Amino acid sequence: MNGYPKPIADLMEQLGRLPGIGPKTAQRLAFHVLTMTEQGLQELVHALTGVKERLTKCPICCDWTEVTPCSRCADSERDHSAICLVGDSRDVVALERMQTYRGLYHVLGGVISPIDGIGPDQLHLRELLDRLVDEQVHELIIATDSTMEGEATAHYVAKLVRNFDSLAVTRLGHGLPVGGDLEYADEMTLVRAFEYRRPI
Ligand SMILES: [Zn+2]
Repeated sequence: MNGYPKPIADLMEQLGRLPGIGPKTAQRLAFHVLTMTEQGLQELVHALTGVKERLTKCPICCDWTEVTPCSRCADSERDHSAICLVGDSRDVVALERMQTYRGLYHVLGGVISPIDGIGPDQLHLRELLDRLVDEQVHELIIATDSTMEGEATAHYVAKLVRNFDSLAVTRLGHGLPVGGDLEYADEMTLVRAFEYRRPI
């Protein structure tokens, strides 16, 4: 950050820590902030701090929510006998876009990835097991990404829940690109993958 006034260098450093922001983009954004109106800047700061202040994790499905439990868990119109297990909140949004699945979700908060130091203990698996014990769940649809980590997580969970006798455990079917992130799959692909889900 040599040559930049310290406040700009500090801002560039912080922006550069965000995913997908390289040094060039950090520089462009930092200088853009200098051109913003006071009101625009306040709105940005408000949005940045508000996202953590206003959201909390749903005690049931572990998705981010403004109300507890979240609107989906509280919705009696939804099918409470099915839980779709996903890696993170963005996957819930992607699957909701299908407008065909009416069951509930459970957000793991990541996938097992030893290289990133994420093991089963870092995921919301305890909360999932509690739900399987307490709620009338007949099907667990494992919809983790078809990446290596997503597949490993799917198999880990399938093994973990195998003692729930009346529980059907399924995995999203073919059609999803191997190694692909669920959130980037188009709706038709997701609908087909749901239709062709298979026992795991
Ligand atoms: Zn919830």
